[in-house]
Amino acid sequence: MKIRIGQGYDVHRLCEGRRLVLCGVEVPFEMGLLGHSDADVAVHAVMDAVLGALALGDIGKLFPDSDPQYEGADSMELLGRVIGLMREHGYSLGNIDVTIVAERPKLSPYILKMRENLAAAFGCDISQISVKATTEEGLGLAGMGIAAQAAAIII
Ligand code: MG
Repeated sequence: MKIRIGQGYDVHRLCEGRRLVLCGVEVPFEMGLLGHSDADVAVHAVMDAVLGALALGDIGKLFPDSDPQYEGADSMELLGRVIGLMREHGYSLGNIDVTIVAERPKLSPYILKMRENLAAAFGCDISQISVKATTEEGLGLAGMGIAAQAAAIII
């Protein structure tokens, strides 16, 4: 029996003049996340969880932000490449659990679409994908950024 676990963590700073993209969903908000790619912090955590489960490093190693080809990159597309690597190594997704940490905006209206996007990317059932959102009660990042954690089991 081959079961492996991985976890991923990422943070991006909020700034004006950028889109806010989380799990491939564009969330209406007055600010967006700063980053070399589309800065989809949740998908970055998911990719690092899968890469961690495979012990293949992290997205910084796979898609270096010093490489101009990843400027403005669609993180869902990069996730597709990570899923391809997972399959090449003989694994498929068991389940994934993502927690997005954001003071604002309220993410509950977008959670289902986020789960659907990830399930479509993995080609799995939506029951294998959990996405949750929480605040830090005004502590921690205190609205200056958005963080995400993900855990993945691959089988
Ligand atoms: Mg990132």
